[in-house]
Amino acid sequence: MLDILHRIVSEVNSAPDLGGALAVIVRQVKQAIGADVCSVYLTDFNKREHVLQATDGLNPEAVGKVRLPYHRGLIGLVCERAESVNLANAQEHACYLRVVETGEERFLGFLGVPIIQNRKTLGVLVVREKEARVFDDNEVAFLFTLAAQLAGAIVHAQASGELATLFDKGMRPTRFFQGRPSASGVALGVGIVVYPPADLNAVPDRAVTDVAAEEGAFRRAVAAVLEELERLRVRVALNLSEEDRALFDAWRLMLSGDSLVNSTIRRIHEGNWAPGALRETIREHTRIFEAMEDPYFRERVTDIRDLGLRILRHLQHGQKAKPPEYPSRAILVGEEISAVQLAEVPRERLAGVVSVSGSSSSHIAILARALGVPAVMGVTDLPVNRMNGRDLIVDGYRGRLHVSPTPAVRAEYRRMEHHEQVLSRELEALKGLPSETPDGFALPLFVNTGLLSELDLPLNREAAGIGLYRTEIPFMVRNRFPSETEQMANYRQVLDTFAPRPVTIRTLDVGGDKPLPYFPVEEINAFLGWRGIRLTLDHPEIFLTQIRALLRAAIGFNNLRILLPMISQVSEVDDTQLLIQRAHDELREEGHAVQMPPVGVMIEVPAAVYQIDALARRVAFLSIGTNDLTQYLLAVDRNNAHVAGLFDDLHPAVLRAIMQVVQGAKSLNREVGICGELAGSPLGALVLLGMGVDSLSMSAGSLLKIKRVIRSFNRSRARDLLQASLRCETAEAVRRLLGGAMEDMGLGNLVGYTQ
Ligand code: PEP
Ligand code: MG
Repeated sequence: MLDILHRIVSEVNSAPDLGGALAVIVRQVKQAIGADVCSVYLTDFNKREHVLQATDGLNPEAVGKVRLPYHRGLIGLVCERAESVNLANAQEHACYLRVVETGEERFLGFLGVPIIQNRKTLGVLVVREKEARVFDDNEVAFLFTLAAQLAGAIVHAQASGELATLFDKGMRPTRFFQGRPSASGVALGVGIVVYPPADLNAVPDRAVTDVAAEEGAFRRAVAAVLEELERLRVRVALNLSEEDRALFDAWRLMLSGDSLVNSTIRRIHEGNWAPGALRETIREHTRIFEAMEDPYFRERVTDIRDLGLRILRHLQHGQKAKPPEYPSRAILVGEEISAVQLAEVPRERLAGVVSVSGSSSSHIAILARALGVPAVMGVTDLPVNRMNGRDLIVDGYRGRLHVSPTPAVRAEYRRMEHHEQVLSRELEALKGLPSETPDGFALPLFVNTGLLSELDLPLNREAAGIGLYRTEIPFMVRNRFPSETEQMANYRQVLDTFAPRPVTIRTLDVGGDKPLPYFPVEEINAFLGWRGIRLTLDHPEIFLTQIRALLRAAIGFNNLRILLPMISQVSEVDDTQLLIQRAHDELREEGHAVQMPPVGVMIEVPAAVYQIDALARRVAFLSIGTNDLTQYLLAVDRNNAHVAGLFDDLHPAVLRAIMQVVQGAKSLNREVGICGELAGSPLGALVLLGMGVDSLSMSAGSLLKIKRVIRSFNRSRARDLLQASLRCETAEAVRRLLGGAMEDMGLGNLVGYTQ
């Protein structure tokens, strides 16, 4: 039975759509159990009916037509009880309903199992027998297992709109491919598939007689690629930061340096023609870089391959190699997209980016965010070669790619796109205005950042400073810990860009879901493990290097504030402060004019909430990390899709915890701000305004929306809403209350998919 189960599950998973999955289930289950009928009824929640959606054994004509109202018949009974119903003779049961269209009056034995997901009954899986017999426990368990499997497919179909079209026969089902949301926004456009310009692996070896001519051709091709890159660099220069522009220098170095060019020339001299020699050199380089298992170097592998292919194209076509034509709203699609391919598209034509490989932390995703282009990465099941010229919609909020969307889906996204444009025009008008309530209460807004490429964003001018600079990224993109000098240069750039505005830099917060490739930590429960301050206190050398870099970077600016992550014990604060003091004293002794910056702690672990007094007494300020605080308070892993529905930072328990921290901080006259996602959500900002927090810190994209909220609500109104929120028993009730207040204020358009 287990083997059969595995086979069915794998067939269901690879079915192209829900209809296909249902067909597999009814056919295979009937066969596996040796039943006479297997059918699936799905619930149409809009019409409050259970619809026969697939059958093997009943009249196939009845599929899609037989609709049983809620609470009617045995199907209604299974749904109502959310339990299996197992009867030797269905027709003797009081709830039996005779449905002539299906031809089921010939069958007596009945087993119906509910299809449940997240406590909601989505339909019923039924088997029938001609003979009167009760199904045994193994058969019931078998059906339960398959019903659970089917539930996932149904939920997916519900989300994509496929289920609605199944219920509403005649419409083409809508499908979308799921990836990871990597840069927000929606874009409608036309797919343009980028692929390696030529197949280097297919290049054969060929003996050369005129070595000098071959070398000359190769050198000309390299020169042409260098020129091409220079043109691109100039084109993108305006949009990219120093750090991203440095990529072009890296490519130039690769082409001018010894190894790539000289290794190829050596191979030409050994007798291979230029394309064959190039193929071997690129292979050798990619092998070395791939073996390094470091994300930064894996990104470089793409670059090396890309460079190799560009040279090959020039070798094959001389100067005639011409760039592709881009449609006016190009959505770049590829198995793997290199930064050069992205840069090649004129900015005004680039509408979206979709890639099979990569994640939201890939360099390409970072670039897309820097350019303000919606992106979805990691769309693993996308048939890339069929995407060229197709109508596509990229939903960077939800990580979806819609292919050849139906008019209804297109209209919905047009509406969203329009909504985004209108909203952003409205918000533009708020630029330069203070973040202040109509009754004169100022609530300064800060930005969260962690990338040098985000420092140049024009929106940053709107911020009162940086409320959270996550230092993990410079550590993650290297193959070793960055040195004191490297870190100092990085922090100095950040402090300089924002000076004299304050910049709060958080000490290294790796571990959990942010591992360092060169410092592997194997843990079963990483979020409760060696994370943040715990790791750095165990490695004072790492911590001291970072603190020294920070203190030195702040010389002359004096706008640095240091923030400590994952504090759960007062001793961690004491120990850290001793180390900071030590770094300060040593630097002074070494002759550096460093100053002691204000030190604060993140309140993101429930223990810290209950010791707020002891913590607040020790530091200058507090910053509440609502992302982790929510995950730890609600015991919901913030990255686990199964429990994503339970993660809610407006949960009354979270609001009460924040309230307790704010009160604790205020009673000791300590400054308290919020730097988790809650601060950047309109409803969150409203309730936090009511609490009287001193600052909110969010991604730059949320600044104007939140400013709009602050400028719309009087402090007293926000206080009343806070009191009412604290009386709510569920997050939904809080959401309804605050959402209603937004609507009343004419700010309904701020809430919705942006939440
Ligand atoms: C938080 O936990 O709320 C927070 C801001 O930190 P991070 O998201 O980096 O863990
Ligand atoms: Mg955190």
